[in-house]
Amino acid sequence: MPTKINIQDLVRENVKKLKPYSSARDEYKATGTEMVFLDANENPYQTDVNRYPDPHQRNLKDELAKIKEVQPEQILLGNGSDEVLDLLFRAFCEPGKDNVISLPPTYGMYKVLAEINNIENREVLLSQDFEPNISEILSKIDENSKLLFLCSPNNPTGNTFSEEKVIELLQKFKGLVIIDEAYIDFSGKESWLSRLQQYPNLVITQTLSKAYGMAGIRLGICWASEEIIEILKKIKPPYNVNELTQQRALNRILDVDVVSSEVADILKGRKELVEVLQEVTFVEKIYPTDANFVLVKVDDATSRYHQLIEKGIVIRNRTTQPLCENTLRLTVGTTEENQKLIAALKSLN
Ligand SMILES: *Cc1c(COP(=O)(O)O)cnc(C)c1O
Repeated sequence: MPTKINIQDLVRENVKKLKPYSSARDEYKATGTEMVFLDANENPYQTDVNRYPDPHQRNLKDELAKIKEVQPEQILLGNGSDEVLDLLFRAFCEPGKDNVISLPPTYGMYKVLAEINNIENREVLLSQDFEPNISEILSKIDENSKLLFLCSPNNPTGNTFSEEKVIELLQKFKGLVIIDEAYIDFSGKESWLSRLQQYPNLVITQTLSKAYGMAGIRLGICWASEEIIEILKKIKPPYNVNELTQQRALNRILDVDVVSSEVADILKGRKELVEVLQEVTFVEKIYPTDANFVLVKVDDATSRYHQLIEKGIVIRNRTTQPLCENTLRLTVGTTEENQKLIAALKSLN
């Protein structure tokens, strides 16, 4: 059985007491009649964006809720998932007192956000096969451990964490378990979204930056219980998702067929890339991946990285990351870009 968790006990005192800023768009409730808006000091002349955006992003949330089969009240949207993650720190972690757990090698923002917010980041290395090390995690947590970050599929390793391990952590960790699913749409494995009801301490983040091809508009999604979402809503800037982003995101998520055919092409490109990599003499290991990138171990990552730069191709050198010595992370591109990468890899020796 999951341990009983009182979410309110995890919230910072100042946030618990806080009365959120009430914007002009919040105070007026739409009546359906044609109204004259003189409440927000906007310029009345039409530019398409002369009005403040909907602070609750209702249209976008309704559509996301429909697609993912959750309630709109279980969604918080942010200026990229980076903002969503920052809000989690600010709502739940008391600076100088609380701590979070992250599992390197992983996404670098958890650590950066911890540092910005003056929160101790307790790092527990993944195992050699890039799975969470449960007993070590449990030995590092205490009553001030508020957030545990599980990035799955993980960046930069590409693997999805074992389901049993995640369940064990959801049951044993008494803070919030954040599952970062930035790459979930490239994975054949199921999202944790369908289990939100089951685990009251589960928070899932997703983004339009990867599979949805919208990194430039900055839209991050947080899915959690209504109770957790209500807490985050109290501290989010009222207009954190701008009008252009809301419009572009809505159009894009309605374009289901285009998105899924692009994802299918990327997966096909990934398969071809992996096949070629098996023939490249200086590639020593290709790690299994559920994402739109492949991590490989090579003879000398830094010199291979520079050789590829010389040929006009930029990849990510991950050699300084723990457990990632001499690894390179290759993002799958268009068919043409993949061909260029493949040709360059084959030409190196
Ligand atoms: C790319 C990425 C994100 C995306 O962040 P945005 O701010 O939404 O662009 C989040 N988490 C991980 C692990 C990523 O690799």
